[in-house]
Amino acid sequence: MKNSVLLLSLLLICGAGWSQQSKNNNAAIDAKVSALLSKMTLEEKVGQMTQITVTIFEDSKKPGYFDAAKLKQGIQDYHIGSILNVPNPGAPTVKRWQETMTAITNEANNTRLKIPVLYGIDAIHGASYTAGATLFPQQIGLAATFNTALVKRGAEISAYETRASSIPWVFSPDLDFPRNPAWSRMWESFGEDAYLSSKMAVALVDGFEGNNNVGSKYSVASCMKHYIGYGSTTTGKDRTPSIIPERILRQYDLTIYQAAIKAGAKSVMVSSGEINGTPVHASKHLITDILKNELGFQGVVVTDWKDIIYLNTRHKVAETKRDAVRIAVMAGIDMSMVPEEFSFYTDLVDLVKKGEVPMSRIDDAVTRILRMKYELNLFQNTVADLKDYPKFGSAEHIQEAYNTAAESITLLKNKDAVLPLNKTEKILVTGATANSMKYLNGGWSYNWQGENSDNYAADKSTILEAFQNKLGKVNVLYTAGANLEKEDDNEIQKAVDLAKTASKIVLCLGEKNYTETPGDISDIYISKPQIKLALALSKLNKPIILVLNEGRPRLISDFEDKMSAVVQCYLPGNEGGRALVDILYGDVNPSGRLPYNYPRYPNSLEKYNRKYTESISEGEQNNDATYEKSYLPQFEFGTGLSYTTFSYSNLKIDKTEINSTDEINVSVDVTNSGKRGGKESVLLYLSDNFASITPEFKSLKRFEKISLEPNETKTVKFTLNQKDLQFVNEDLKWISEKGSFTIQIASQKTDFLLK
Ligand code: BGC
Repeated sequence: MKNSVLLLSLLLICGAGWSQQSKNNNAAIDAKVSALLSKMTLEEKVGQMTQITVTIFEDSKKPGYFDAAKLKQGIQDYHIGSILNVPNPGAPTVKRWQETMTAITNEANNTRLKIPVLYGIDAIHGASYTAGATLFPQQIGLAATFNTALVKRGAEISAYETRASSIPWVFSPDLDFPRNPAWSRMWESFGEDAYLSSKMAVALVDGFEGNNNVGSKYSVASCMKHYIGYGSTTTGKDRTPSIIPERILRQYDLTIYQAAIKAGAKSVMVSSGEINGTPVHASKHLITDILKNELGFQGVVVTDWKDIIYLNTRHKVAETKRDAVRIAVMAGIDMSMVPEEFSFYTDLVDLVKKGEVPMSRIDDAVTRILRMKYELNLFQNTVADLKDYPKFGSAEHIQEAYNTAAESITLLKNKDAVLPLNKTEKILVTGATANSMKYLNGGWSYNWQGENSDNYAADKSTILEAFQNKLGKVNVLYTAGANLEKEDDNEIQKAVDLAKTASKIVLCLGEKNYTETPGDISDIYISKPQIKLALALSKLNKPIILVLNEGRPRLISDFEDKMSAVVQCYLPGNEGGRALVDILYGDVNPSGRLPYNYPRYPNSLEKYNRKYTESISEGEQNNDATYEKSYLPQFEFGTGLSYTTFSYSNLKIDKTEINSTDEINVSVDVTNSGKRGGKESVLLYLSDNFASITPEFKSLKRFEKISLEPNETKTVKFTLNQKDLQFVNEDLKWISEKGSFTIQIASQKTDFLLK
């Protein structure tokens, strides 16, 4: 007892000491920032707010290398504060990045104030723009792991390898909250649940920023994106309008940002979209009033690509480019990703000189940018010493990426225990996604659309190669079977003929690599040639294991009933092929869970946390044959099977009645009732049974992933607090209302009353 009191006191003293130290650091940085700011000219300040893409400074005859005069013009004449993106032809080595950053740093050191240039990059699943880096599953797969510790570790590795590339700032995590599953950036998000997204957001921010230690040579500054409502387009097409009442925005989308800001996220990128008719880049209400003032965000607000110019040319809310600059800067943006010319700089200098933008706004922006540069220690350390990064692309890092892929892959169906496969069975591997690294990695891999993954990741295993490595090349039958988009009946016939000699078929279907507008679709069904292949193979009446390698749920209801097993592997990254095949053969027990509802039909895109009116046929109309079941996803959020079984018992709460300050402690016993060890994500849902704003059917409030050996039981404990009982009312306030609530964990349920 005495020891624990002593330990607690020590911890409190250390905690207090640490927070005092961090206050001192902040004060020291603030002093340096204001001293520097006071020396700067208007032009130097506006330059800091200007971000330009690296390719603008390239030598036209020597792609990937600078034209010294162009770089000098950007840094000396326009005083630019930030550069982004990847030089041509994509994915330099760490050595090449070092040379690139040295050239930029040398140029910055020739300026009057020697302010370092802040380099930012789309390192969104590992240092994905560096050759030889460790590539993890894309974010949707991270969410499917339901394992925040694993996800945080991945972000630490990503930060390490990005800093090894001399880059201190990543445009990640993606905190978008997709409301239409067809959206081409669905896979860049954490799926459809705000609570899961918040937890994963914090894991990534903590991992990137080294738990508030962003100045370390192994940490990077994160950038939450795309603030806000970007993922909610009505049509599902990229950068099309959204209609989101503020009440809804606050109840869901904003909570994800709040969590990441609390974790210390250093910057935010603004959404290219419009909400209720206002482009977010033009919204003072969203950027200044809510983000900066209400949430107290102290970091840098950067625009997305060309989005100030688009206020004029696409959104048509500004009559000129110059007016677009005024609108966006007055809305609260701090840095413009211009990024292909210098009009932002010239226009903003002019706007300030003519009194249309006050100097106080410029000073606020530049203070934030300089603070981030000091916090990142860029004044001391801009170029990596490669000796400090012996683990870049190492076996240890690769193993973590493999573990993450293995925990993300989600077994959605396993009829008659068709899986795991047996190594003695003759298997046909077929399907358009079976033999390419492009489909495993998706976009933002080596370059924007990720079309070069087969070159850069040539030493990694595609799904087919992972089969061949496990079974020996001669023991695996393979043909592509179908093209992703083009009909090819000969290929289908080839697959059918080969399948006749196999005992089981592994059918790999999915999507091309894409991101942003090039990934827009008008038909959410999986492509026609792939449906044709699935139906042709199903006629053979052999077990088919459907492997989905896709960024969003493409509908499979035309043939899903003919599949014996369905495995979702999302975009699992460079180690995904190996992890998948290890799961198919039972060397790894699957433990991923679906982070969204997989729809069955295009007109039925309900979320799991639907309102009761979205599933009337489940309840009161259940026996009325005239009603079509309205809520019938192909697979529900949270679905994820294992090769073992888990049973739940003894759901207990410590109070059945609580007042408006009480917490409620919940416990449940989980037993591995099968024959293999396995991991299980325990999900706690809460339903507010009656409320003045229609309550959700249920919503996820807590989760924990545990490991259990056969016959082992663990008691999992959760604590719910008052915030968990609240929703946003019509006055935009978080409130709870008296009445009954139901807690549900697996099939166990219990009620309590808020008095
Ligand atoms: C994307 C952002 C990305 C930026 C920089 C934009 O087109 O929307 O997510 O960070 O480009 O590459």
